[in-house]
Amino acid sequence: MTAERRDPRADRLRHRVPGTSRARFTIEIAGSVALVGPAVTQAAAVPTITVENPAFLVAVVADAPGGLLGPTDRQLLGAGRLLAGGDGAVVLIAGTLSEDAGAAGADRLILLRQDDAPTRALEIGEIIAALKPRHALFSESPDGGDLARRVAVLAGETLFGDVEMLTSKQMIRPAGAHRVEQRLPPGRFIALQADIQPPYSGAPREARPIELDVTSIPPIDWEARDIAGDPGRMTLGEADFVVAAGNGVTDFGTFHRLVEALSATPGASRVLCDAGLMPRDRQVGASGTVLNGTCYFALGIAGAPQHLEGVARVEHVVAVNTDLHAAMIARAGLAIVHDAQEVMPALLAALAERAR
Ligand SMILES: Cc1cc2nc3c(=O)[nH]c(=O)nc-3n(C[C@H](O)[C@H](O)[C@H](O)COP(=O)(O)OP(=O)(O)OC[C@H]3O[C@@H](n4cnc5c(N)ncnc54)[C@H](O)[C@@H]3O)c2cc1C
Repeated sequence: MTAERRDPRADRLRHRVPGTSRARFTIEIAGSVALVGPAVTQAAAVPTITVENPAFLVAVVADAPGGLLGPTDRQLLGAGRLLAGGDGAVVLIAGTLSEDAGAAGADRLILLRQDDAPTRALEIGEIIAALKPRHALFSESPDGGDLARRVAVLAGETLFGDVEMLTSKQMIRPAGAHRVEQRLPPGRFIALQADIQPPYSGAPREARPIELDVTSIPPIDWEARDIAGDPGRMTLGEADFVVAAGNGVTDFGTFHRLVEALSATPGASRVLCDAGLMPRDRQVGASGTVLNGTCYFALGIAGAPQHLEGVARVEHVVAVNTDLHAAMIARAGLAIVHDAQEVMPALLAALAERAR
């Protein structure tokens, strides 16, 4: 009797996808054998949660840019659901919305008719006056925070902004210029910081549309203007053009007149701040402020590495120094090798001449 020999290569080939070197897997589905592929499973239908007669409402005002709920909107809805608990209902208030608000945790949905911030604030104010929610939640985003303040002012209510921790019993927010922490029960108008609350992840909710008649909103005549800040008092981090003095400057009266004539923000090296000749918040450098501006004018500053760190991002540097080999002169795109006490009045005279 001859035993049939096993061919190991044929065995291995059977476990490959024909014509390739990829391994072939099989998955058992209900007793049959099928080649691997995306598993087609029928998701069990999850029933939608409805709140027929809520004990109270929690309004959530979403930014929903472009009609889509952003991460902070979803977190806000998560916070709304936390405050609503089992008895309350979350009313989502948004502009256009092209996605399922129920999946994000909304029991009711109100779509706004107004587009611009002032009239939208009026419309939300009317909605809140009509619905009388226990809480109204806004996102502490540029748009949401602006809207929150407008609505709170119109409603004559206190806005609890910058809330950085929220539970059903307590909220925590900074107060006193961030020096103290305020802990109190959740207020009525709350603006919530991003990433402190998870989005709603429960079963889909109804998001029943509500129609409210809020057509009584009068048209608002408004205009927006850019108000230029005073460069003399601007913080160094915000300033675009900084004129700074170092140890080589002795005539501070002329220095300050020059800063003003150039519409610049004053700065200084550490030596001057240490000596009390300039305030500490004017110090440019690694242990002072790192500038974000476009132009830096250094008068009598050597350019120590710690100072140069503060001007690393600045595009144009102009230096005045008596020492041709000063590091600040090497860093500058334009240098004047001369006494700063003489350059400053000469510049003032040139500016006055130009103004005439
Ligand atoms: C940990 C640490 C952190 C530091 N952080 C900072 C910081 O954030 N910012 C900072 O600025 N420094 C900082 N320093 C200090 C730094 O090392 C320098 O000591 C300081 O920047 C020097 O300042 P200055 O250039 O004004 O003075 P000086 O070094 O005294 O230089 C004066 C300059 O003025 C020139 N000069 C003199 N007379 C005239 C004149 N009549 N006209 C024109 N030019 C003249 C001189 O040639 C010289 O180049 C730090 C130091 C340490 C150790």
